[in-house]
Amino acid sequence: MFVRDSLSGRMVAFSSKRSKRPHRPTTCPFCPGAEALTPPAMLVLPDADWRVRVFPNAFPVVSGKNGRHEVIVETPRHGEWFENYSGAQLALLFGAFQQRFAALSKARNARYVLLFKNFGDKSGASIPHEHSQILSLPFVPDAVKTEWKNRKALEVGMKRPALIEDQWFKVICPEASFFPYQVRVLAKDKNARFESLSQEQGVALLTLLQSVIRKVKAAQGAPDYTVVFHAASKGKVMRFFVDVMPRKAVWGGVELGSGVLVNFKEPDVALRDLKTA
Ligand SMILES: [Zn+2]
Repeated sequence: MFVRDSLSGRMVAFSSKRSKRPHRPTTCPFCPGAEALTPPAMLVLPDADWRVRVFPNAFPVVSGKNGRHEVIVETPRHGEWFENYSGAQLALLFGAFQQRFAALSKARNARYVLLFKNFGDKSGASIPHEHSQILSLPFVPDAVKTEWKNRKALEVGMKRPALIEDQWFKVICPEASFFPYQVRVLAKDKNARFESLSQEQGVALLTLLQSVIRKVKAAQGAPDYTVVFHAASKGKVMRFFVDVMPRKAVWGGVELGSGVLVNFKEPDVALRDLKTA
């Protein structure tokens, strides 16, 4: 159930099921052999002997007519980290991302689809087996509307010095990063949409993310991070980008009381540190 706080204007999703989430359960429900511990899969790749598995989140943020919430188990190997996947594994994973993104976009009432990944306790990840999540919402979130309205800022971002880049994507440290060592991956084609990236481009994107995550973990001296894929809402065109947010820093009274975010690492210093990390 969604309720808009009439004082702050922020949207709150009430989900009592979330409180039942297991934290670091003794038997990992994402490991091969434990499939019965999760809802039945809607997608397994490349076949029943799966290497990527997608199923409904048993503790969803949204459900029913409000939307869908799915878990994408990225590897059958418990303890294999994202940054170490093979190219073949990245290809399967990107295929799953795109297939589920398309399916959720088509779902009834879906107005926005959010693909994201949490890693580590401070990111909110409750199961230490690499996975990402995708959910559809019955409205376009305010943050997404604001990004679209301010989309020219992405063109300014494109002019910032590159941490790394390839043929299709440029990685920068944004001018006002929310977290120390936050990094943004921008599509070089300003009309690129997540849905229409080719398999080759998708694998290139995930390969760049592997390099970024290796650097972020080393620079911040902690493994916790969140990745958010910023796709434009339906019918809108906006340069596609991905934010990698290191999550070692915890928001306190200044952030919660004033909305002003405190970051102890200026982006030019972050860029220098990340280059050598
Ligand atoms: Zn596992």
